[in-house]
Amino acid sequence: MAKRDYYEVLGVSKSASADEIKKAYRKLAIQYHPDKNPDNPQAEEKFKEAAEAYEVLSNAEKKARYDQFGHQGLGGNGGYSGAGMNMEDIFSQFGDIFGGGGGFGSFFGGGGGRRTKKGTNLRVKLKLNLQEIANGVEKKIKVKRHVVAAGVSFKSCGTCQGTGQVKKVVNTMLGQMVSASTCAVCGGSGQIVDKKPPEADSRGLIVKEEIISINIPGGVGEGMQLSMSGKGNEIPGGIPGDLLIVIEESEENVLQREGNNVIYDLHVSFIDAALGAFLEVPTIDGKVKIKIEPGTQSGKMLRLKGKGIKDINGYHRGDQLIMVNVWTPTELSKEERQTLESLRGSENFKPNPGKQDKSFFDKMKEFF
Ligand SMILES: [Zn+2]
Repeated sequence: MAKRDYYEVLGVSKSASADEIKKAYRKLAIQYHPDKNPDNPQAEEKFKEAAEAYEVLSNAEKKARYDQFGHQGLGGNGGYSGAGMNMEDIFSQFGDIFGGGGGFGSFFGGGGGRRTKKGTNLRVKLKLNLQEIANGVEKKIKVKRHVVAAGVSFKSCGTCQGTGQVKKVVNTMLGQMVSASTCAVCGGSGQIVDKKPPEADSRGLIVKEEIISINIPGGVGEGMQLSMSGKGNEIPGGIPGDLLIVIEESEENVLQREGNNVIYDLHVSFIDAALGAFLEVPTIDGKVKIKIEPGTQSGKMLRLKGKGIKDINGYHRGDQLIMVNVWTPTELSKEERQTLESLRGSENFKPNPGKQDKSFFDKMKEFF
């Protein structure tokens, strides 16, 4: 379906002022509000369409591009993410349009009766190294939250007499009908700001930096999202949103993660490989010494049982796999060269792989 012209959607002229555009959107948003039109997909579509149009026309840069190039000007096919925009996004983005109430984020998640308003969620990314992932860790996160400012007082909303609902009598062919909808002035809380300190916004909120402590359980993985309820943005007369913590695995690990196993590439000199040695390797629990047997071949895999990552849903712990790489020197002194030259013809230095020297791929199969 072809996209409608954004000005047409909002019912304004191309020369409309920012204020006229805002008013037009507000009118449509209230008219097609899901609370007023329960289970009405057409109204929901109209609501989304208006939000999309407003998103573009209320933004000077996007509006300029749209005026010049139309929908194409916004990039991509149709350009704008509006089609995929969900209702919560719309409310959290344009909640302000409805006035002091702080938005309509509340309409979802409630069920019947007077709904509790909920503040918006905060999302932070948290980078963890493999050790922290394996063992779990307590982290302190700095967040900027909206909180209700000290000294803010509220009074009953005059528009809805503190009920949070506005009743409207509509004349229809079937007679008079009373429709109730959420009060647009207070956003359904029944309260509006009475007194507030000058630094607070119209909703009585200030932005506050807080340090929040969180316990990350062992075994989390890239992209996993943890939620701390009530640590998001506050909203007057409602419950605070949540703090969402998105886990990222740090790239700079010497240990690689493979499921619940940990892989370490160990480089040994061919002297150590030939003569045997005790070498130190890092694990997620710190360094340990391992034995390299005399005559160890490159590509050999060693296993440290239980030195991997704990399964997040259980007690089982993976292993650490150590892959042995025999390192060939790239620079040699004259003496070193002479020593090695003298061994070149030696029978024992000629490669003579036996059946036990499996190929790398066979070894991989064995280990996973
Ligand atoms: Zn009200």
